Amino acid sequence: IVWRRRRSVNITVIGSGYVGTTTALVLAKLGHQVIGYDVDASKVERLNRGELPFREPGLEELLHELLQDGKIVFTADGRTAVTSSQLLMISVGTPSAADGNADLKYLTSAIDTIAEFIDGPKIVITKSTVPIGTNRWIKERFAEKVDLTKTPVDVVSNPEFLREGSALHDSFQPSRTIVGGDNPLAVETVKRLYSGLPTTYYTCDFETAEMIKYASNGFLAAKISFINEIARLAEEVGADIGGVARGMGMDPRISSHHLSAGIGYGGSCFPKDVAELLHLANRKNVKLSMLAEAKRVNDTQIDWFVERMQAVAPLKGQRVLVLGVAFKEDTDDQRESPGIRLMERLLKLGVREVRAFDPTVRAVDEIRWTKPLGKGAAKRVKVATDVERAADGVHAVVLTTPWKSFETLPWKQWATAAATPVVFDGRNFLDDVALRGLGWQYYGVARGRGR
Ligand code: NAD
Repeated sequence: IVWRRRRSVNITVIGSGYVGTTTALVLAKLGHQVIGYDVDASKVERLNRGELPFREPGLEELLHELLQDGKIVFTADGRTAVTSSQLLMISVGTPSAADGNADLKYLTSAIDTIAEFIDGPKIVITKSTVPIGTNRWIKERFAEKVDLTKTPVDVVSNPEFLREGSALHDSFQPSRTIVGGDNPLAVETVKRLYSGLPTTYYTCDFETAEMIKYASNGFLAAKISFINEIARLAEEVGADIGGVARGMGMDPRISSHHLSAGIGYGGSCFPKDVAELLHLANRKNVKLSMLAEAKRVNDTQIDWFVERMQAVAPLKGQRVLVLGVAFKEDTDDQRESPGIRLMERLLKLGVREVRAFDPTVRAVDEIRWTKPLGKGAAKRVKVATDVERAADGVHAVVLTTPWKSFETLPWKQWATAAATPVVFDGRNFLDDVALRGLGWQYYGVARGRGR
């Protein structure tokens, strides 16, 4: 590996999605010369123009800066991507296939591109979340496709832990950097890539590194399901789940993170990583009963919430305004979004109109349904773009995503514009006392008797 002024190196990041683009920019900011490679030529073109193809706070500004400084460039050409750098970092998507198994087609094609254009020794860094055993399989695939005596390839596992919506913060202040591998020199090279970041390294073998990623996401998902299940009981006994979580979180052994009760987790990571872990356990004949329950609680949390909505007022034939399409705030990512699942549930229940409102959605065809809607259902979906008129004639408002801007919606005006001023807060995000003061009937998730 050639280190310029002993500090910076050429690196290609394969896949320019949420993780790949963020990581590429962070590496460029650390002084490395970075090439971002993606098979999607239109994405590459936009990135080279300084346009971020997705939404992530602070990232576009950093993109402008680093393009201008000539520290990063994007390409859709495989040969350039592979031959320009000795370090190749893979950050392509690894979505769930229908059976819960992670789908490795993008990863396989990235490896095959490397094998096709390989021109010298490489270190291939796996940043994508990959099933346990995959890094070893990557090594085998290179051994089959490449003459390793001429062009040796080392593989290093380096899973990513950033959260969408705070990707830059998480990348510049990582909680830890996990580096798994079987060649200490390659492992050291990857650690050195990040020098300058305030991080703690943990080095281990491939399987441990891969498992750290899955077990971490599994644990966080279970934590959310735990508090959601406690919320179901809190609702019955009149305890305030927000207070319960705060009080629990004061214990450093528990910590307050991922203890927000609501309509459950979604996004591109928790559901698919939990599914993959359960799938693997099944194949190995090991029962992960706690994780299976965490998934079951999450899968039924929206039903539980909708049942409570129905108990207040039957929704069939009504108009419902849904606040939030993105799976969480500060992102446009709709993968496994609870808001979308809730809308699908409402359509199934026979609501007359689902009106969606989200800062990142301007039209119905921008909503990524989990499966195609039938014609009848599709006709009942609208997207509100005029904030002032968004609540006109609705029988209920449901908040599914805690966008900061939702605090300051024209709630006062909406209370009179709505057919019935009823709000269901699926994230315990809104000021219930203030809303009641404005004439709203407010229902959150176990917000307690005292309120
Ligand atoms: P993404 O879907 O946003 O981006 C993937 C990109 O890879 C796309 O732009 C796609 O065009 C490109 N691509 C596909 N095949 C390619 C190939 N053969 N060569 C080059 N480019 C190719 O995915 P993401 O959300 O950035 O996730 C990437 C990986 O990181 C996944 O394994 C995910 O589990 C993991 N991860 C994601 C997050 C997150 O919050 N999004 C957090 C931690 C880890």
